Amino acid sequence: MKAAVIHAPHDLRIDDIAPAVMGPGDVTVRVRVGGICGSDLHYFHHGGFGTIRIREAMILGHEIAGTVESVGANVTNVKPGDTVAVNPSLPCGHCRYCLAGQSHHCLDMRFYGSAMRFPHVQGGFREVLVCDASQAIPTSMAPDRAAFAEPLSVCLHAARQAGPLLGARVLITGAGPIGALCAMVARHAGAREIIATDLLDGPLAVMKRVAADEVFNTRENPTALEKYQADKGTFDVAFECSGAGPALVAALAVVRPGATIVQVGLGGDVTLPMNTVVAKEINLRGTFRFHEEFAWAVRFLETGALDVAPLLTEIVPLADAVRAFELATDRAKAMKVQLAF
Ligand code: ZN
Repeated sequence: MKAAVIHAPHDLRIDDIAPAVMGPGDVTVRVRVGGICGSDLHYFHHGGFGTIRIREAMILGHEIAGTVESVGANVTNVKPGDTVAVNPSLPCGHCRYCLAGQSHHCLDMRFYGSAMRFPHVQGGFREVLVCDASQAIPTSMAPDRAAFAEPLSVCLHAARQAGPLLGARVLITGAGPIGALCAMVARHAGAREIIATDLLDGPLAVMKRVAADEVFNTRENPTALEKYQADKGTFDVAFECSGAGPALVAALAVVRPGATIVQVGLGGDVTLPMNTVVAKEINLRGTFRFHEEFAWAVRFLETGALDVAPLLTEIVPLADAVRAFELATDRAKAMKVQLAF
C-alpha cells in the first residue's frame, strides 16, 4: 500500500509500505482522508521543530478518518463498513499520568506521525491503517468532516484551560485552522464577543465568516488593538494560536486584570513583560493535545453544532501530496488541506 513518507526536509515521497498485522483488539481502517497539520508542515519544511527531529523515514499524518475494513476478534465498538474518526493518541493506560486521568501526558504515548520517540510512531497518511479499537470512533458524518475531530479536540482542550466562556470577551491571535476552531468553540461556549488578529487577510476573512465579530490585520494596522487597552484591558480570555512572541506580548496588554491567556501555538523562546503578568494577575496557561475531548469533537461535528465546512480549502489526491503540502503552507490561500487516499 502507499503512504506519504518524510525522509528529510522537502523530501516527501509516496512509498510502498508493508501492511501492518491486525491483533484481536485492533481495527483495520481504509483511510479516506487525512488533514495536513502545522506539525506535518514543520516536518516537511524543517525535518521537525524545536529539539524534535526526524531520525528515520516517517509516515506523516494524525488527522485521519476512514472506513472500517475488518475488526479483531475482541472488538465490539465498531464493525466493518463503519465510518470512523481515528484518534491519533494511544496512551499506555498504566503510567502515573494515565492513572491520574491525564493520559495526554502519558510517559509512553504513541501519537501518530510523531518523531518525539524513537523509533518514531508512524503516521496515518497511508491507504490502510491498523489501530487499537479504542482509537476508532464511529460516526455518521462524511470522512472529510470527521478528519476535523483531531484539531477540534485540541481546541476543546484549550477552551477547558480558559475556564467558563459564557459572556466572555475573547481575543484570538492567529487565524489559522486552530485559531478558527478555537473561535468556534468559544462561540459555542457562549462568548459574548470574539476579536481575532492575524498578519494575513485570507485567514481573517474565514475567521470572520465562522465566528469572529471583528478581525484585525496587525501587519497592516499594528495599533489596531490599542483601544482594547483602556481601563487596564478588555478581554477576559485570550487564545494565542500563532506561536509568535509579539502576539503574546500584544495579548498581555489588552486582557483585563485576572484574565486567562491560553498559549495554544507552539513557538520558540519569547521575552515577556513579566511586570504585566504580575501586576494584572494574569493566568498564563499552556495546553497540550487532548484526551476525552476527541469523542466530544466527533459529537459536535456530527450534530452540526460546529460547522467546519468553511475551513476546508481543498482535498488533494495522495499522488499530489507535495502540491498539497505546498498549498497548506500558503496561509494566504489555504486553511485546511486534506489528502485523499
Ligand atoms: Zn501512560
